[in-house]
Amino acid sequence: MIEVKEAQLATGTSDIFNQLGTHDHEQVLICNDNQTGLKAIIAIHNSVLGPGLGGTRMWNYKSESEAINDVLRLSRGMTYKAAISGLNLGGAKAVIIGDANTMKTEALMRRFGRFVNNLGGKYITAEDVGTTTKDMEYVKMETDHVVGLPESRGGGGDPSPVTAYGVYVGIKASAKKIFGSDDLSGKKIGVTGIGKVGMHLVKYLHKDGANVMVSDINESALLKAHKNYGATVIEGDGMFDAEMDVFAPCALGAILNDETIGRLKTKIVAGAANNQLAIEHIHGPMLKEKGILYAPDFLINAGGLINVYSEHTGYNRENAMRDTEKIYDTLLEIYKTADRENIHTQAAATELAEKRVNDIMQVKSKI
Ligand code: NAD
Repeated sequence: MIEVKEAQLATGTSDIFNQLGTHDHEQVLICNDNQTGLKAIIAIHNSVLGPGLGGTRMWNYKSESEAINDVLRLSRGMTYKAAISGLNLGGAKAVIIGDANTMKTEALMRRFGRFVNNLGGKYITAEDVGTTTKDMEYVKMETDHVVGLPESRGGGGDPSPVTAYGVYVGIKASAKKIFGSDDLSGKKIGVTGIGKVGMHLVKYLHKDGANVMVSDINESALLKAHKNYGATVIEGDGMFDAEMDVFAPCALGAILNDETIGRLKTKIVAGAANNQLAIEHIHGPMLKEKGILYAPDFLINAGGLINVYSEHTGYNRENAMRDTEKIYDTLLEIYKTADRENIHTQAAATELAEKRVNDIMQVKSKI
């Protein structure tokens, strides 16, 4: 018997409801299983456009409060990401609390799959940081509401190369806006986080003749980027102080904050990481004031979602790449709107995404 607990977290009920109220979520499911050690939170932010699709992140959160904050922010981002990409999907996300290297087992992932199944299709899961296509195979053993399966299982495989391609075309669009040309040859581009997305991005940038700098906490990733793509390694957090044309954050969120924005010496920030702005309404305008063009994260990193979405309609990577290329034009449209309305780019992108959700909500309210 699956035990479903929609219960109070250690942070206290009022904290949870305060946090839920801030982002206006539809439903949050707390999943606990003593046998496998599973502690997970599934957050469905908005299902106006369709079922909520979003990956499952496994992370060693310092506290339950940090985990719930992450899942709420990430699931909201998914609503905007799907909406702005023209997909008929809602926004949702899941987090599993724990160390992905030591705690992840087949049983834990399958137990998680049972919780996903209990939501009856309102939530569709996929891989994310700390989970892999192999993990999704285990989830698939318990539910059909999962995408991002290996290609050998009829899925789209790892979405990261498609995400990286979207970030690459997004960097080109941003260069077009700032430099008048999207030619990246000779441009100094700093990539932080040389993981599944970052490494593919470095490959694209290197091919275009960009002068790539890399930073990561993982030495072997840095060595690989240096050896294979001639990237210059920047030690520690030196990327924030380095002169460059484009900064591409591809690690974790909240990287753009009071401390880091003051140090940045770039003309563009355009990277894959989710929730790059620590506090959107503060750090979006702060970048604008500094004259730094910011590519809204949920738009520029939508390639992975576009990729898994196409599993629904019969997977075809060429189609997914072609659809991902549209990020280029959408970004230029957002930049125009932001200029016209004199607002920061994240606000312009949010406005466009919310407009689509609201328009379709109106359509659905009619007979
Ligand atoms: P990943 O785990 O493969 O890579 C993350 C990399 O960041 C790792 O190499 C890690 O060592 C590095 N890192 C972690 N903390 C760091 C720090 N403090 N400083 C420098 N480097 C650090 O993850 P990924 O799949 O490449 O995703 C990267 C980001 O892009 C995440 O924010 C993810 O949510 C977002 N994203 C990924 C996809 C996708 O398709 N994989 C899609 C959309 C958004």
